[in-house]
Amino acid sequence: MADPHGFLTTDQRELPRRRPVPIRLMDYREVYEAGDPEQLRRQASRCMDCGVPFCHQGCPLGNLIPEFNDAMYRGELPRAVELLHATNNFPEFTGRACPAPCENACVLGINQPAVTIKQVEVSIVDQGFAAGLIQPMIPERITGQTVAVIGSGPTGLAAAQQLTRAGHTVVVHERDDRLGGLLRYGIPDFKLEKQHIDRRLDQMRAEGTRFKTSVEIGRDISLEDLQSSFDAVIVCTGATVPRDMTIAGRELRGVEFAMDYLVPSNRVQAGEQPGPGGVESHIDAQGKHVVIIGGGDTGADCLGTALRQTAASVTTLAIGAQPPIDRSEADPWPTVPRIFEVQSSHEEGGTRRYLASTTGFAGDEQGRVVGIDVAETQFLDGRRVPTPGTEHRLDADLVLLALGFSGPESDVLGLDVSDSGAFARDESYVGSTPGVFIAGDAGRGQSLIVWAIAEGRSVAAEVDRFLTGSTRLPAPVGPHDRSF
Ligand SMILES: Cc1cc2nc3c(=O)[nH]c(=O)nc-3n(C[C@H](O)[C@H](O)[C@H](O)COP(=O)(O)OP(=O)(O)OC[C@H]3O[C@@H](n4cnc5c(N)ncnc54)[C@H](O)[C@@H]3O)c2cc1C
Ligand code: SF4
Repeated sequence: MADPHGFLTTDQRELPRRRPVPIRLMDYREVYEAGDPEQLRRQASRCMDCGVPFCHQGCPLGNLIPEFNDAMYRGELPRAVELLHATNNFPEFTGRACPAPCENACVLGINQPAVTIKQVEVSIVDQGFAAGLIQPMIPERITGQTVAVIGSGPTGLAAAQQLTRAGHTVVVHERDDRLGGLLRYGIPDFKLEKQHIDRRLDQMRAEGTRFKTSVEIGRDISLEDLQSSFDAVIVCTGATVPRDMTIAGRELRGVEFAMDYLVPSNRVQAGEQPGPGGVESHIDAQGKHVVIIGGGDTGADCLGTALRQTAASVTTLAIGAQPPIDRSEADPWPTVPRIFEVQSSHEEGGTRRYLASTTGFAGDEQGRVVGIDVAETQFLDGRRVPTPGTEHRLDADLVLLALGFSGPESDVLGLDVSDSGAFARDESYVGSTPGVFIAGDAGRGQSLIVWAIAEGRSVAAEVDRFLTGSTRLPAPVGPHDRSF
């Protein structure tokens, strides 16, 4: 145990400071300042090494949290790095962008602020890389069996790394020009700088994983051809079909899906030029009145991006009521509560409106959006509907639809889809075609990075068993497991 008195002597939660808002709005770099090692040690000391560590259960990866808290408290970085990587291939991604269900489940959270688990995690991996402790793990033997992974998001990368280390020859196929999935082109740099992805990819290449970019399976190469060239195929194509709104004015120019805004913006941040010959579809929010419909991660990423592009105003609309600041009785510990979330983007500006039902979009003669009609939401027979007489119009030159995603692009690969809209699969991650495994958002529906990595690890275990008859790879989650 880190320090038997730690949770008594340090009862406050401390995190590194975020850079001042006016400064960070001038660039796209990550928002946190460098951490203070003494502060981190104090925070690690708060861990009570619980007899039943609920944090460990709250994390889909089953991270060894009390153990790595103890290692960091004692200054044993090599042990902490080893413990962290025993359960998580990419703690630098979760340590930056995970909503930390482990912290919601932390026992200390019953009557004190939870241990800063995520901060300990990211500090271990950052310090581990800086100290040269995270090196390629080259397999001792090659099995001669081959695996094609489709999609290079966190699911595909985790599955590929596990199977490469188990000695299989793995080729990751990615339709984009760069690797990383939503980590690369969804999540902006201010949450996750892309050098972290590139550093991991270097490690994976050195271990023997091969990558093919700009190749779309189902169009450039058929799934059948891929199956005939590889012993197993894993589909990790994400859940990329956006939810739409079928209301008056939806066809107006300037009413865009969030990803049609974020992806080109991320490309420009990666150094590509906007305009002809470069990122043609780049949408610049500079000087515009931006309205974002949907209050989740995607909406927050649009907000931070629009503020950096110096939008005239940014308003986020959520159809439901504002969540409470603290846990309500409906969300008791250790469940993941629905509470009012303040991401870094929310600190930076913009207006958040709740109980806002969008009823239509108004346009000008050129077919461009100029306004959005909104009414107050009321609940009728369990349905959310606009309240008559409360309609009003907000100025809007750019409307971003961040309403979530309905599932994977099912027509491209021709695999069966379940009632949830995701690809159907059995308890061993096998989809409707034998030898084809389904993992991550493609099978679970839009989820989180931590679930993607957990599924990538688990599907790797199933594929290893399929290829060799047994496996020693860990399988932290089943395909139908859910959070607390
Ligand atoms: C804007 C945004 C912000 C988010 N922020 C967070 C966050 O802060 N924290 C968090 O935990 N989660 C966040 N998420 C969710 C998280 O990014 C996803 O749950 C996670 O990336 C899913 O991983 P995946 O590997 O299953 O799919 P993806 O990351 O979607 O990767 C799928 C990959 O497959 C490729 N592909 C698709 N079809 C084909 C094909 N036919 N052939 C070849 N390649 C193909 C795609 O190009 C893509 O690269 C966010 C999501 C979005 C959209
Ligand atoms: S639940 Fe909290 S206090 Fe208990 S072991 Fe986990 S991190 Fe430490």
